Amino acid sequence: MKPTVAFFDFAGCEGDQLQVVNLEQQLLELLEQVEIVSFREVMTGHSDEYDIAFIEGAITRKSDEARLKEIRKNAKLLVAIGACATIGGINALKNLQDLEEVKRYVYGDGAKHFQTYPTRPVDAVVKVDAYVHGCPIDRKEFLSVVKALLLGKKPEIPNYPVCVECKAAENVCVFEMGQFCVGPVTRAGCEACCITQGSICWGCRGFVDDPNTDAEKEILAKYGLNVRDVINKLRLYTANSEVAR
Ligand code: SF4
Ligand code: SF4
Ligand code: SF4
Repeated sequence: MKPTVAFFDFAGCEGDQLQVVNLEQQLLELLEQVEIVSFREVMTGHSDEYDIAFIEGAITRKSDEARLKEIRKNAKLLVAIGACATIGGINALKNLQDLEEVKRYVYGDGAKHFQTYPTRPVDAVVKVDAYVHGCPIDRKEFLSVVKALLLGKKPEIPNYPVCVECKAAENVCVFEMGQFCVGPVTRAGCEACCITQGSICWGCRGFVDDPNTDAEKEILAKYGLNVRDVINKLRLYTANSEVAR
């Protein structure tokens, strides 16, 4: 019997599930190892019996909690995939504003028909066994997390900053060009792809476990900044953290 897996979406754009679909040949190889019993983006069937549940999207309504807890109850392992699920992501930007005002802005006269509450990541509601970070997730990393789980191992997620991979990619640091970047405090694992492609790091993989290291502060101090300055300017993904408020 192959392990059974199911995908579920909460508040998000479903871009992470699309990354899984885009695995193409590797998806076929994955299907030799697991049986997918629920995946709304690609199939109509559904079963409440699964070993691994992948959760995409943030929790943005009280009513989401019961559904998430039910999934947790059914699953042996629960994996949060994508920034919305792992850290609240873009959805958490509303936490920085008056929620009634946010509802009025989005739904206008219909606002009273919609629920909302402060956005939270999946692990604020249920226990999470593994994380696949990023917006969207990296397909290679998704496969390596699944492989580790199938082998009964703890997935290895980098706990050093994006700067390490950025240096390895031989990029010119954006600070040298008068820009900001949250790479010094953001969890690596993306090979600093945004900087390599001419942008900056916006922090979609969330903070490393202890972002306030002396070395990071030193880099920022060299440019007359501190961690809080930078994060406040670039809190697209980190609005749910204490540091960004
Ligand atoms: S993390 Fe990004 S790609 Fe994934 S659901 Fe959220 S917005 Fe979409
Ligand atoms: S601060 Fe940003 S651009 Fe500079 S090395 Fe770190 S990740 Fe790269
Ligand atoms: S460089 Fe930063 S924003 Fe881009 S994928 Fe990596 S962590 Fe996310």
